[in-house]
Amino acid sequence: MHIGILSRNSRLYSTRRLIEAAEARGHTARVVDTLRCYMNIASHRPSIHYKGAEIEHFDAVVPRIGASVTFYGCAVLRQFEMMGTYVVNDSVAISRSRDKLRSLQLLSRKGLGLPVTGFAHSPDDIPDLITMVKGAPLVIKLLEGTQGIGVVLAETNQAAESVIQAFMGMKANIMVQEYIKEARGADIRCLVVGDKVVASMKRQAADGEFRSNLHRGGTASEIRITPEERSTAIRAAKAMGLSVAGVDLLRANHGPVIMEVNSSPGLQGIETATGKDIAGLIIDHIAKSAAPAKKIPPKPKG
Ligand code: ADP
Repeated sequence: MHIGILSRNSRLYSTRRLIEAAEARGHTARVVDTLRCYMNIASHRPSIHYKGAEIEHFDAVVPRIGASVTFYGCAVLRQFEMMGTYVVNDSVAISRSRDKLRSLQLLSRKGLGLPVTGFAHSPDDIPDLITMVKGAPLVIKLLEGTQGIGVVLAETNQAAESVIQAFMGMKANIMVQEYIKEARGADIRCLVVGDKVVASMKRQAADGEFRSNLHRGGTASEIRITPEERSTAIRAAKAMGLSVAGVDLLRANHGPVIMEVNSSPGLQGIETATGKDIAGLIIDHIAKSAAPAKKIPPKPKG
């Protein structure tokens, strides 16, 4: 197979590992800078151009689209979909996953465990919003934040009210969430590939920090998850329409609750923590799922 990897930087760990894993299995892979792809949409034959020439045929495309380029990245990916290329995660699923509120609404429809979460527009509704999520301590989140940035813990109702007011005043979209105290600064990242959890790690927040993101100084270690956590992660990825996903769970007293579902999960943390060849498992999944490119037989002459 010839695999295209949509990524801004070929030196990133996850990108390098995907190439290595593809080549180790006898495939070829090429990194294409998402923002250098441009497309011809109006013609009957949709096409993608790259740095001056029409892009070659890929049997599969692995999107590694960063949050800051979601809009353009999804447009490029959609163009590959128009051309009939197999994509590991499709553009609709990726754009869903980038909106935390939309994701939670989809997950709630499937009856999956979630922290109690509220969303409001008017400052007049703040006091009731706070009561709805059981009062302080509570978590306030920017809908489009990543790596823990824009996630704030408010210890008192008063603090919550003023932070929410400030965000609303700045026209920032936020949601307010019950604080899962019993998770004690730890979350569980489940890496789903196809219909399996292929690896899981626990991320523990640094001392004095409630956010367990590795970018915020959290540390990772391999963890055994329960059958309930495993099925929650698989159902969450499926509800989002993602075949490769990083599902983040918190261990609440009443069972696992989903924090978020990531459509371009980083491979470095989880491969290091578990020693598993996740990139290889992703490539194996692609080889199994991508229909082999159809060779059009030449027309008989005459
Ligand atoms: P991001 O997408 O920016 O990583 P998250 O919603 O995953 O944002 O939050 C970052 C981290 O903050 C989580 O991994 C978790 O450790 C902590 N956290 C977030 N929401 C809650 C909550 N409701 N209760 C307890 N901890 C939380």
